[in-house]
Amino acid sequence: MNVVTRFAPSPTGYVHVGSQRTALYNYIFARQQKGKFILRIEDTDQNRYVEGAVENLLSSLEQLGIEFDAGPGKEDGKGPYFQSERNEIYSREVKKLMDDGKAYRCFCSEKRLDTLRKEQMEEQIPTGYDGKCRSIKREVSDERAKTEKFVIRLKTPREGICEFEDIVRGEVKIAWFQIDDQVLVKSDGFPTYHLANVVDDHYMEVTHVIRGEEWLPSVPKHLFLYECFGWDAPQMAHLPLLLNPDRSKLSKRQGDVAVEDYLKKGYTPEALNNFLALMGWNPGGKSEIYTMDELIKAFDINKITKAGAVFDVQKLDWMNGQYIKNMEVERYLNEARKWLGDLEVNEDKLDTALMAVKTSLTTFKEIPSKIAVFTGDPVEPDLEGTEMLEFESTKEVFEAYVEKITALDELKSDDFKNIMKEIQTEMGVKGKYLWMPIRVGLTGAVHGPELGYIVEYLGKEENIKRINHWIN
Ligand code: GLU
Repeated sequence: MNVVTRFAPSPTGYVHVGSQRTALYNYIFARQQKGKFILRIEDTDQNRYVEGAVENLLSSLEQLGIEFDAGPGKEDGKGPYFQSERNEIYSREVKKLMDDGKAYRCFCSEKRLDTLRKEQMEEQIPTGYDGKCRSIKREVSDERAKTEKFVIRLKTPREGICEFEDIVRGEVKIAWFQIDDQVLVKSDGFPTYHLANVVDDHYMEVTHVIRGEEWLPSVPKHLFLYECFGWDAPQMAHLPLLLNPDRSKLSKRQGDVAVEDYLKKGYTPEALNNFLALMGWNPGGKSEIYTMDELIKAFDINKITKAGAVFDVQKLDWMNGQYIKNMEVERYLNEARKWLGDLEVNEDKLDTALMAVKTSLTTFKEIPSKIAVFTGDPVEPDLEGTEMLEFESTKEVFEAYVEKITALDELKSDDFKNIMKEIQTEMGVKGKYLWMPIRVGLTGAVHGPELGYIVEYLGKEENIKRINHWIN
């Protein structure tokens, strides 16, 4: 089989992390199967149009390295499909359904539907359309359509059970009485998601529909549509929900769920992809770090879990730290330089400072605060720091340090290590009694980047000045 998967986002203005996970699973599966992965923008809902949403979507996907193939009719490879440009196809297809008596015009007013819903709620029966317009004869319907507003509904079965196999959920059964006579075409003439989605999946030759669990209840309508059209339905895989750590449904606050915000917060695309790809599937080995190629190799669509996946930001932080730590030096330095903000830096020594914090970063956003120890004045030692300056041996250590440094032409990180070794042998002072006074003496803080980098960055004169400050 030539596998075709698709990512079919509605342009809401930003890419939700759940959508990005959906995109990834479709992408990974298609690549693994040497198939195609297509992008379809589901933008038929004119009321929900958001300025710039499509551009934003495309740029986020590009930053994340998700690439699309050309689908049928798009052999020139130009851009995604837009549903808003395909209305002719949907109208043609829905006409077929009407001619076959599988769909009908519904002339019921909003007001009637509202009252109906209220009555159903009061009676505590499932809400939904009562089928009033089902029996209107076609000739009558055609006449009324000339002057009245209408929608087109699908004549869904009223009885029995819809049974289907989902790759993730296994056998699923949904009773037909729970399924409404779905609106296929709205009163503005635009198709609903359900109609456009099924028609497109068919004509775009989609073989596997991989999407969020929230779409599972829609499957009966879709399968029934395929049946009415006489088409084979694709296989379906509904991905588990993303959850907050307290297992509630993932928060909707944009700052917490928009992929572009994570990128802006200094997470790397690789870490985000890696993290999201493991939300609902797991290769089972010890490692959690997977490149895209490794994910493509290891992925098993049959091993996606049913249970909700917790979106654990701490894990993402850890993973991102790993990616920064292992990042190739040139790329790291390039990237890191973008995050300096208005920090004043000594250009010549900036790389030293950036390298010094490489292994301790969680996100790039931390760069200014982490390298402040190089660029700013020393901080005032806290209680713990003050203790480190008050060891019996501290004054002598400081004096020896200044003396040895003064004798040098230039102070490099290797010289520093040698000097510290000499002091240790000559004075018998070691461990925290040797290192901590120097660290606090130079920076004011008990923690920070590797001391060698700091010493080299500050240079001979500044080292002497800072330590002398404490001797006096
Ligand atoms: N437009 C739908 C969404 O935004 C697509 C659902 C599907 O993949 O069928 O989630």
